[in-house]
Amino acid sequence: MILKPGREKSLLRQHPWVFSGAIAQVVGQPAPGATVRIETQAGRPLAWGAWSPQSQIAVRVWSFTPDTEIDRDWWRRQIHRAGQRRQPLARRSDVHAYRLIYGEADGLPGLIVDRYGEVLVLQLLSWGAEFWRETISEVLLECYPGVTIYERSDTDSRTKEGLPWRSGLIAGPAPPPLLCMQEYQAQFWVDIRQGHKTGFYLDQRENRQAIQRYCNYGTALNCFAYTGGFTVSLHRAGCTHITQIDSSESALALALKNIALNGIDAGAITTITGDVFQWLRRYRDQGMMFDHIILDPPKFADSQAQIPKASRGYKDINLWAMKLLKPGGFLVTFSCSGLVSADLFQKILAGAALDSGRTVHLVEPLGQPLDHGVNLHVPEGAYLKGWVCQVT
Ligand code: SAH
Repeated sequence: MILKPGREKSLLRQHPWVFSGAIAQVVGQPAPGATVRIETQAGRPLAWGAWSPQSQIAVRVWSFTPDTEIDRDWWRRQIHRAGQRRQPLARRSDVHAYRLIYGEADGLPGLIVDRYGEVLVLQLLSWGAEFWRETISEVLLECYPGVTIYERSDTDSRTKEGLPWRSGLIAGPAPPPLLCMQEYQAQFWVDIRQGHKTGFYLDQRENRQAIQRYCNYGTALNCFAYTGGFTVSLHRAGCTHITQIDSSESALALALKNIALNGIDAGAITTITGDVFQWLRRYRDQGMMFDHIILDPPKFADSQAQIPKASRGYKDINLWAMKLLKPGGFLVTFSCSGLVSADLFQKILAGAALDSGRTVHLVEPLGQPLDHGVNLHVPEGAYLKGWVCQVT
């Protein structure tokens, strides 16, 4: 793979993507996913990476050391290293689930592995990860003997690569329909087969703890509740009544199971299947107020072109939520759109605060936990940001 003149700059800064427009010449006829050498026009070798013929990101780098061989041993070292980095989580007996491998951030582009106790859920998002599928599974079994490996390669990024979706058991005993896992003092049922992502929003684990410092009394509204992660956390913190809203009936069915699993009295929870945008307005019309509101919407922006519409969406829900808070109440608000920067998100919140007529203080920034840590050389790995705000 020979680069156009001057197009090696990002690689020299250890950024792992080579865009198709940066390539002057493809040497030979590499198979999709095969390991290719990337060199400058002058013939200087720079890196090894995986060839993705259909994607705009034509090569994803495995190694910036030209004399490294990408083989089984290399995979063993990388997978071991990713596991080592999670030791603070792995050594806790009260945290069963965390992200074991976070793609580019762990130097393994296109590979996601989430751990739910003895079950590893694998996502292969690129041709390169697909190419090494068997090696990856074998090395995971070596590093984590006795585990089950279940594949959830059913995401849009596969489509962009020209890869078909695939899911199912790869190794080990078939997992039960629902896995039960511990997250600090809470337990959750997780559906790894049908659930969002690999079944659970592991990226919010530490934020579910953080909010307990603030939202520890009175009534709460948990918007975009999914399977009730924040609902359980709010109850544990001391909220006496929690309303949870989500548009997905199946997610809320599991949320109700999770409420029962945690010994929460069903009378303390109101569950609504519906659209958050509509319900926030409805509550305003009804004059309903809450002590705390959580806003954890899905990704609103998938492309640059969607940023203005996404910004309006964020402003809308935050504005309405601010209006619904009792004086001194807390708004916990997130954006998981990577394309909406932390800076833009804060500006959107400022706009919402202005229009709501309320005074809003930023109290604590929230972001990604250790297992979703952002590699400084790959800022694209940063997507989740949030704020605990106090509204007076
Ligand atoms: N807070 C959750 C994760 C939320 S993911 C947790 O910690 O587990 C976003 C959720 O928003 C999904 O469950 C999805 O079903 C729901 N959703 C998407 N659009 C919605 C809308 N307009 N109204 C209500 N829920 C919506």
